[in-house]
Amino acid sequence: MTPIQALQKYFGYSAFRHQQETIIQHILDKKDVLTLMPTGGGKSLCYQLPAVLLDGLTIVISPLIALMKDQVDALNVNGIPAAFINSSQSTQEQIEISTRLKNNQIKLLYLAPERLFGKESKLMDFLKSLPVALIAIDEAHCISHWGHDFRPEYLMLAGLKTEFPTVPVIALTATADKLTKKDILEKLNLKDPEVFISSFNRENITYRVIPKRNSFNQLLTFLDERKEDSGIIYCLSRKSTESLAADLKEEGFLAEAYHAGLQNDVKARTQEAFLRDDVRIIVATIAFGMGINKSNVRYVVHMDLPKNIEGYYQETGRAGRDGLPSDAMLLFSPGDAIKLKQFAMVEDNPDQSRIMLKKLDDMVNYCQLHACRRQFLLKYFDEDFPANCGSCDFCLTEFTKFDATLIAQKALSAVSRLKERFGGAYVVDFLRGSRSEKIREEHKQLKTYGIGADISKPEWQRYLRELTAMGYLQVTDDMYPVLKLTPKSEAVLKGLEKVELVASQTIEEHQPAIEALPFEAALLNELRSIRRDIAQHENVPPYIILSDASLQEMATYLPQSLDELRLISGFGDIKLARYGREFLLPIKDYSAKNGLSSKIKNKVPKRERKAKTGSNRSSDTAKESFTLYRAGKPISEIATQRGLAPTTIEGHLSFYIYKGEMEVTELVKQEKIPAIKDIVESYGAEKLAPIKEVLGDNYSYGEIKAVVAWMRKNGDI
Ligand code: ADP
Ligand code: ZN
Repeated sequence: MTPIQALQKYFGYSAFRHQQETIIQHILDKKDVLTLMPTGGGKSLCYQLPAVLLDGLTIVISPLIALMKDQVDALNVNGIPAAFINSSQSTQEQIEISTRLKNNQIKLLYLAPERLFGKESKLMDFLKSLPVALIAIDEAHCISHWGHDFRPEYLMLAGLKTEFPTVPVIALTATADKLTKKDILEKLNLKDPEVFISSFNRENITYRVIPKRNSFNQLLTFLDERKEDSGIIYCLSRKSTESLAADLKEEGFLAEAYHAGLQNDVKARTQEAFLRDDVRIIVATIAFGMGINKSNVRYVVHMDLPKNIEGYYQETGRAGRDGLPSDAMLLFSPGDAIKLKQFAMVEDNPDQSRIMLKKLDDMVNYCQLHACRRQFLLKYFDEDFPANCGSCDFCLTEFTKFDATLIAQKALSAVSRLKERFGGAYVVDFLRGSRSEKIREEHKQLKTYGIGADISKPEWQRYLRELTAMGYLQVTDDMYPVLKLTPKSEAVLKGLEKVELVASQTIEEHQPAIEALPFEAALLNELRSIRRDIAQHENVPPYIILSDASLQEMATYLPQSLDELRLISGFGDIKLARYGREFLLPIKDYSAKNGLSSKIKNKVPKRERKAKTGSNRSSDTAKESFTLYRAGKPISEIATQRGLAPTTIEGHLSFYIYKGEMEVTELVKQEKIPAIKDIVESYGAEKLAPIKEVLGDNYSYGEIKAVVAWMRKNGDI
């Protein structure tokens, strides 16, 4: 059986995702592999499918009992014999499992690392007597001190290669940073490992940040359209999780609080109820989530500012593992940032404090961003992505810009008059002519004092932020940051350069690029309740039986026979045989009653469908530029034709350099490359402005972007 046949037969999927296929091929060739894929990317399949194809046993090392149980349930429902051994089982149960192992009746065995290398563990000898074909190490970042959840017991896994020298090992994680990656490779002793890094983009998640005002009402407005959906709401403190959960209950929501201070049995019960859709909303501290595999979490809300982007991205990543459109919303207040700043200071450890503050700063920058949030997030994880993703609040909103040269001049001259020694708040008060005693008497005598009285305080704050983002102002890195001018300021002050800013009111929010399918809602509810009954009967959470995505497909394409049902994603042979009829009957009934017939012919393989729906998606817009460029059009002409800035087009093209589909020399003359490369190597590629500054007028932003993309592709940065 080929991998693709096994994918359909055992898992009911028609195509591989990301690099699954190549990864699987490497394992079948008995090579060691490290896989970095975002949460929900489909890591498990990378070892589960080889486990089915290989003769012998696959051992899976996993840190959490809840996770093991979930995976084993899911495998068994698909007809793949799997089991776990952990401390929650009786001796009798463990004996039964060893018997099945001896008889080669189990394909996958899940274990916690301490089991394997425990002091009096005889397990290792037993396992060595079995035909072990593959070892998978899940959540491999737990081996690294750099990661966010280091587990000392993972260090023992270094011994695996000694105990099983000829067995291929696949390590998997959703943590992508370089230090962690290096640590994993070194500490696991992998042999010539091939490293696969998937894009960390989660295209089905829409990112939004809104200014926090009356947070409970804002939350209710958000939840209003999502009454039936499952979601996680993160709060900073234990107390606020409890009070918010209580308030939501009062409003009629099925909500429960979850935090580390609760009794273990309460936590277990709440988690279980959430998995089974009995509780719809979990209001939690960040203690909740690791090991939650629930695929139909439709939204993640942050009521308070997260401490860093890493945590935020991981938490939002818990939404939409099933690939359906999902939302991440964050309520931001600058006050939260100030509060967190105090927490970020680590006593007697200035280095650590600085790192934490920097991370917090990045988080704040993300919240105050006036650009594509997805691009910002991915760039944070060292990944290039074109601007304008089509599914974040910035890209979904049409902004109008206006000539703000005069405003910029006022702001810059205020900063200059104040001798570049004051922070944003003071500058705004000064501009607005505040009578407060905080404003020094001598400043009140200056001509610039009060020249911006016609603009509100929040508006001024936003303008200053935008001017900073555009490089006309800079904020120092100190504990008490002050505003300073930049080399770009002078041209504006002299009236040589115009400045455009975004007008405050937003015009229109477009629909997200990935739209939900038009499905029969009443039928979907019926299918949900059937799934619920089956799940109860099998004693597993509903999403293990079938994902929400599968139910939606059925309610959309109305399959009328088992053969048609097979084309619905998620129906492998076993599921089709076990549950097919139970779903088919109500679909046929519903169709007959409503005069509907099968639409299964409209169902095209997932990949194609996605490409069609997102005509304004980022990859598509980049592609359009690329196609025009390949057709021989100069960049300036493409920009005019598409109504975009030439730098945007250059950004699009750089993406193709990064992907290796275009030579860097197509955009940059060969002799110019070494100079740019040199500067990027010494300054880093985080900010292009300083690089441009050093290189001077003979080098364009487009050329710099192209070389950066090329260097990224080569792994030089
Ligand atoms: P991860 O471990 O990377 O967070 P999972 O392995 O839990 O992600 O996979 C997320 C979801 O995607 C699961 O419901 C899984 O069954 C599904 N999935 C994995 N691979 C595919 C595929 N090739 N086609 C469709 N669905 C897939
Ligand atoms: Zn965007």
